[in-house]
Amino acid sequence: MATNGTEKNESPPDTTHTPSQRYLSTRGEDEGFSFEEVVLKGLASDGGLYIPEAIPKPTSWESWKDLSFPQLAYEILSLYISPSEIPADDLRAIIDRSYSTFRAPETTPLVHLHDNLYLLELFHGPTFAFKDVALQFLGNLFEYFLVRKNEGRTGRDRHHLTVVGATSGDTGSAAIYGLRGKKDVSVFILHPKGRVSPIQEAQMTTVLDANVHNLAVSGTFDDCQDIVKALFADKDANESLNLGAVNSINWARILAQIVYYFHSYFSLAKQSSSTFKIGDKVRFAVPTGNFGDILAGYFALRMGLPVDKLVISTNENDILDRFWKSGKYEKKVVRGPEAVGGLAVDGAMAHPDGVKETLSPAMDILVSSNFERLLWFLAYEFAESVGMDDYWNKKQASQEVAKWLKELKETGSFGPVYQDVLKAAKRDFESERVTDAQTIETIQDLYNKIGYILDPHSSVGVTAANRSIQRTGPGAVAHISLSTAHPAKFSGAVDQALRGLEGFDFEKKVLPAEFVGLEKRERRVTDVENDWAKVRELVKKQVEQELRGES
Ligand SMILES: *Cc1c(COP(=O)(O)O)cnc(C)c1O
Repeated sequence: MATNGTEKNESPPDTTHTPSQRYLSTRGEDEGFSFEEVVLKGLASDGGLYIPEAIPKPTSWESWKDLSFPQLAYEILSLYISPSEIPADDLRAIIDRSYSTFRAPETTPLVHLHDNLYLLELFHGPTFAFKDVALQFLGNLFEYFLVRKNEGRTGRDRHHLTVVGATSGDTGSAAIYGLRGKKDVSVFILHPKGRVSPIQEAQMTTVLDANVHNLAVSGTFDDCQDIVKALFADKDANESLNLGAVNSINWARILAQIVYYFHSYFSLAKQSSSTFKIGDKVRFAVPTGNFGDILAGYFALRMGLPVDKLVISTNENDILDRFWKSGKYEKKVVRGPEAVGGLAVDGAMAHPDGVKETLSPAMDILVSSNFERLLWFLAYEFAESVGMDDYWNKKQASQEVAKWLKELKETGSFGPVYQDVLKAAKRDFESERVTDAQTIETIQDLYNKIGYILDPHSSVGVTAANRSIQRTGPGAVAHISLSTAHPAKFSGAVDQALRGLEGFDFEKKVLPAEFVGLEKRERRVTDVENDWAKVRELVKKQVEQELRGES
């Protein structure tokens, strides 16, 4: 507990609410950051990712069982955000606003599929993808921090944030819906012209708010990402625009995702009270790309949720699956006709010939950016086992992570890591790799069995969950598989799996009312050349117009 110098703190220590939660970088050079700094900066200046200095372990988590999603979110988030930074009532208001946009009353409903298998539907937000859970919250946070900085300031004196991001689909639309209409924030999303799915293109470009700017780049997703990187590296752009990022390494995104692990656990206890009691262990299967979603599950586990295993579910871009089997983290360069450039999702480090195009494109990555955070906790545990003080253990962990990441950058791989590090990883996680053929098969199986239609990403998760159920024995451990997108967003794969099957009709069975006619609505999008300096000038001009109220 923090006390200030000479003043003695007389009140008993509060073990659940850490009054001064601070953050450090996984690479060790930066520490002592506030939540606000971490959210606005995104990436630490040493190239590392921010993590909390301590993971809270609330003793009373079971008492949260009857809370609504927003109430539960408040309990969890307030353990990571000091009330001195965001007062309780303000945090509650931010959370309520963020989840009022969800269509389902439970926000993230849990559906019983069959036997011991449950599906956690995370796609009831504005863009029908799980990324809304985090980006609705992040958008409101940005606005909150800026409005507060701007108290008493008018006109040109106000702080203004320009969020710039590249997208191949999902992140772009979720970011746009998270930031539309927000005060003092402009958002620019670059997508490769003609290369995102028609639904996703329509979702992004039909948002007409003045602060939303869609740029269609004549080039690939890689080109878009290179432009964004060039802007962030450019002094002129940074100084004139005050750039901000919303990619998957932003800590606030991980934080918001912890909530649904607890929420679904309580839903399970309510739905299956005869077979499942609070305190029983559960397994989560998580379709994984950049390791953000499943990392939130690891935080839930460390906070005390009874998680037996987190099952990493990858498609054929399987760097994580290979790490869990060998202890070696290695970019695999795919060559030949199956190699495509630019299909990595936002925030991933794309490589022109390393990513395989699959039916679950939001998981097509070469390396998983958030994995660095888990590596830090594994390295910390290893350092702890040697038994030095906490300060030394943290330094040790950061040094180890910095070394691994340097090796990855220079040689394309690191490891095998120490046996004890891999053992700690295996204690909490298992991993599965799922091919496109198996993805299709699972969509068909579940449709034939119970008529439920999975999107291809969720199908990767369910396939992995089925294998885990085989291993643990039917009926032994309850499994919750995370569903990350609505099937209508990935109509190609769903249609490929189910076309011609009894009773299947895409328009009637899959397409939500919100998508009908979307493609015909008015759009706002600017075509740009694949030239970052031109993009910089265009962004400056459009921000200028927006601030003058002309757009
Ligand atoms: C982003 C995304 C994923 C992968 O989530 P990570 O946090 O990157 O592991 C899976 N499915 C869908 C539909 C997504 O949009």
